[in-house]
Amino acid sequence: MTKNVDEKHHLKFRVVVERDKCTSCGSCEDLCPELFELDEGGIAHIIGSERVENNDELEMEEENCSVDAAESCPVMIIHVYKDDVELL
Ligand code: SF4
Repeated sequence: MTKNVDEKHHLKFRVVVERDKCTSCGSCEDLCPELFELDEGGIAHIIGSERVENNDELEMEEENCSVDAAESCPVMIIHVYKDDVELL
């Protein structure tokens, strides 16, 4: 992952979803619809995110419901970072 992140610390939280491993179960969207939706192919998408390779990534001031969504993901492909340390 990125090693030199010193200039990116204006937003504390970052949420990442590994789209290529998504099973389209819908848990993230159910628990956290303000951040997650399933796209037209049924794959989880983070609303307002940036596409980095096949991941969606979004930086935020607050964790919002990202932790609930990450905990609910049966294949554990939603990752939440605080100050670049992975919470889960
Ligand atoms: S909870 Fe995980 S597997 Fe289910 S739709 Fe969301 S990202 Fe995909």
